[in-house]
Amino acid sequence: MTVPTVKLNNGVEIPQLGFGVYQVPDRDTAAAVGHALRTGYRSIDTAAVYGNETGVARALADSGLAREDLFVTTKLWNADQGYDATLRAFDTSLAKLGLDQVDLYLIHWPTPARDHYLDSWRAIERLAGEGRIRAAGVSNFQPAHLRRLLDHSDLVPAVNQIELHPGLQQAELRAFHAEHGIATEAWSPLAQGAVLDDAVITAIAARTGKSPAQVVLRWHLQLGHVVIPKSVTPDRIRQNFDVFDFQLTEEDLAAVATADRGLRTGPDPDTFNYA
Ligand code: NDP
Repeated sequence: MTVPTVKLNNGVEIPQLGFGVYQVPDRDTAAAVGHALRTGYRSIDTAAVYGNETGVARALADSGLAREDLFVTTKLWNADQGYDATLRAFDTSLAKLGLDQVDLYLIHWPTPARDHYLDSWRAIERLAGEGRIRAAGVSNFQPAHLRRLLDHSDLVPAVNQIELHPGLQQAELRAFHAEHGIATEAWSPLAQGAVLDDAVITAIAARTGKSPAQVVLRWHLQLGHVVIPKSVTPDRIRQNFDVFDFQLTEEDLAAVATADRGLRTGPDPDTFNYA
């Protein structure tokens, strides 16, 4: 099975379905990522703050897969924002990953009260110019943060990775992304399980013979989102990859639209300034 790709605004293609490793301890990460790679996932989403870039590196090295067949994302942690600190943090991540280039590098959170993201982005522009980052993006940026970035830089983020699932459908951000050529990547695409017993989801699951998680992932794919579900459970890793043999109908999509309830499982980016 070849996963469809989304073409980013600089021509780089990202697999639409990838594998997330948030909250996976480093010692367990190689096993989970190894399982994902054997299942067929080729895109892995980690972050400096997850503390498991070395576990990801082990799985990549052990996989025997060619570097150009893999897509690796990591993220700049809040404490490392600022021009020089970003350059140093990037070097550290690259060394832990055992790579000489990442496919996608993201500013993890805007942390607006700390107000360093313009300087961080300048460092990222430099790294992209040096060819050490194939695509540069942000995460958890609200429209106001994106607007400010666009006002100060010619480098439009390729991606904004945001909390997005049927319980939090982010209409305003998705419209902003569409207007500016920014790909929407969904974190906690399953709301960490919190939407899997929603009645609209379980009804579609019952009708299609798919699991609620597969229905939710299919919804993301049909809306054009990049998704990175996480699991350490082999059956679920496989199940979450098996989402290309069915379609949601227009009625299904309209029903899922009614499940939006402002459900945040993570912090609010406007007020999250933790470093
Ligand atoms: P997800 O929405 O991917 O949900 C993961 C949880 O759902 C785990 O508890 C997992 O359990 C369970 N699960 C996975 N598959 C199934 C299934 N088929 N059926 C039932 N339960 C299932 O949450 P995450 O928060 O992990 O988000 C995904 C990824 O997004 C992260 O790993 C990370 O890479 C990224 N992320 C980015 C953030 C950011 O700020 N940029 C913030 C949060 C996440 P189990 O593992 O036990 O199988």
